[in-house]
Amino acid sequence: MKGKPAILYGVKAYSQGIPFLKPYIPSIATIKESIAEILASGMLTKEKYLQAYEDKAKAYSEDAQMNVVAVSSATIGLTLTLQALGITGDVLVPSFTFCASANAIVQTGAKPVFVDCCPDTYNISISALAQKITNQTEAILAVHVFGVPADCLALEKLAKAHNIKLIFDAAHGMGSTLDNIKIGRFGDAEVFSTTPMKTLVTGEGGLIFTRDAVLAQRLRTYREYGNLGDYDCTYVGTNGRLNEISCLMGVTSFDLLPENIRLHNAAANAYTQRLKSVPGISLQHIPNNVVSALLNKSEICDDFLPIRAIVT
Ligand SMILES: *Cc1c(COP(=O)(O)O)cnc(C)c1O
Repeated sequence: MKGKPAILYGVKAYSQGIPFLKPYIPSIATIKESIAEILASGMLTKEKYLQAYEDKAKAYSEDAQMNVVAVSSATIGLTLTLQALGITGDVLVPSFTFCASANAIVQTGAKPVFVDCCPDTYNISISALAQKITNQTEAILAVHVFGVPADCLALEKLAKAHNIKLIFDAAHGMGSTLDNIKIGRFGDAEVFSTTPMKTLVTGEGGLIFTRDAVLAQRLRTYREYGNLGDYDCTYVGTNGRLNEISCLMGVTSFDLLPENIRLHNAAANAYTQRLKSVPGISLQHIPNNVVSALLNKSEICDDFLPIRAIVT
């Protein structure tokens, strides 16, 4: 290849780009009747598929105390959760994450305070975190980076000891587990994303999991402009709702979750196998007590065809 590499605006080696991973979504055959039903009814939002999707997510959690609130994105979900918890002071957040984690804090009117991460798992460092807690700290917003669960038990202990809130940006975490406990069950709330690159897909969307029924009720009001239905605004909320067609996709996408995780694992393993011996490249460490929805080292499958075709 001559000249500059594509990453520096040179000529692309592959005109189509490399297909990292196409979202794995319900086929039209499985959902067309329900879509037709939604369109025919004219009930495009706040209807039975919202209820069905939240019920399905609750069943997934295998936790009778769980409350699930579907929202229009994980970013909105994080912002509303911080607002509903009344957070206005400092929020500790990992320095290595997607910008949405910190954006949500700023949008709430709180202040992000960045904490270093572990160089092996890329997740927030508990020792660095402990040193950053002050009496201005109101919450920790931890992240399960690339689907590898953060050290949730240590985080819960720390949050409890300092009487501060603990929220997880679980955008990548649907399907991940820690000590066989599903991500979604830790802290005061966990917020998943369901954009096309995540393991549960609704196009756009987020899911808030919380065992706190009072918080869940507040979130439902915040999602609805902060208005309980009587046009008297209780809080300064927003429109954070998820439409019926996305909720329908969510219901079906839960059935596809195991296969979607397998495909993510296959892609990650294809890269891992080929990159691990390249000098100067180190890869994310997956601790023994966790399953990462994106890279499960115990399942080495090498059938990710697009990568096999390109990287030989
Ligand atoms: C994808 C992602 C988000 C944003 O999710 P949206 O649903 O697009 O708002 C936030 N945090 C992390 C770590 C993500 O990977």
